[in-house]
Amino acid sequence: MSKHEFNIAVFDGDGIGPEIMAPTLDLLDHVAAGHGEFSLNYTHLPAGALHYEKTGESLPAESITAARQSHAILLSAMGLPHIRKPDGTEIVPQIDLRIELGLFAGVRPVFTFKNGPQVLSDERAATLDFVLIRESIEGMFAHKDEGQVVDNEYATETLRITREVSEQLFDFSFKLARSRARKLKRPGKLMCVDKANVFRSFWFFREIFNERAAQFPDIETSAMYVDAVAMKMVQSPWDLDVMVTENMFGDILSDLGAGIMGSLGLAPSADIGANNAVFQPCHGSAPDIAGQGVANPLAMILSASMMLEYLSEKFNCPQADVAGVALKEAALKAAAQESGRGRDVGGKADTESIIRTVRDYLA
Ligand code: ATP
Repeated sequence: MSKHEFNIAVFDGDGIGPEIMAPTLDLLDHVAAGHGEFSLNYTHLPAGALHYEKTGESLPAESITAARQSHAILLSAMGLPHIRKPDGTEIVPQIDLRIELGLFAGVRPVFTFKNGPQVLSDERAATLDFVLIRESIEGMFAHKDEGQVVDNEYATETLRITREVSEQLFDFSFKLARSRARKLKRPGKLMCVDKANVFRSFWFFREIFNERAAQFPDIETSAMYVDAVAMKMVQSPWDLDVMVTENMFGDILSDLGAGIMGSLGLAPSADIGANNAVFQPCHGSAPDIAGQGVANPLAMILSASMMLEYLSEKFNCPQADVAGVALKEAALKAAAQESGRGRDVGGKADTESIIRTVRDYLA
């Protein structure tokens, strides 16, 4: 059996970013060594708010090129509120990278687990499992640097939906619904989340969704307005499966999803395009706790587990998936223990203790 060597581009990030990235790479090496069929080579690339402060550049062209050439990109949290561009906006290389690499599908799994920190009291909320797919390169973010305030009297922003990106997004979402159905041994479902009753752009989005649905007759489809989905996510999230939505709606709903899980410190994500993929925690750089050794690394570890699943499917390396599942299971078991429960979820464990607990479950 030939061994896969995966080149991973690593962005260590700002704030708590480096504190959660370093132990995650150690855990990745550990599971890779344990599963034989593949190895991971890391290239650390400069970017972020501190890099901008030093050099005036937030995401160097060389970093983009190296990231583009990698098999996958692992990114920790970036940006710091006190370091801003002259126009007052924050440094967000993670968003620039999505646009540069055409990472149109933001995958945000939402799940809870036994003895986890989930906030909903209904017993069905203890084991819920759904996925939100956030379109990540257009929608309300398509012209994010071009909004205008005119004469201090009114302000405008532009929302853009294109057929090309929407078709790619929906095809990706149908395939994900199909592969989830296969893994979970249940029928595949996909819901389009929009505001087609009010905005033409969302009606266009919905029509493209319905067109693409014809190519995936095995997947049951539905559609709901975003406001109704927000309520459903709180009242009966256990009924949800795979949902796909516009960028801004997805931005908001994915934090709601992290809230249902119990903490941003547990919520992983992936941004996937035709040729590249970034894996990163949903949370930001948490400057309020940086340097204290108390950041919860589980969202980063769970994102790394999603990376292994992606590498497995994309490059036909089954052992990477096995390793990813092992890493995810160890992280969730750790999260249910006192020694794996960080302060963000009402516990006392520091980063080192959480990592040690995950490591013990992997041994
Ligand atoms: P961004 O806009 O960059 O996503 P944000 O403004 O939403 O960032 P975060 O940096 O995500 O803010 O932090 C929000 C709160 O959650 C902070 O109080 C932070 O300390 C806490 N937090 C975020 N991530 C973690 C983590 N991994 N472990 C512990 N606490 C965290």
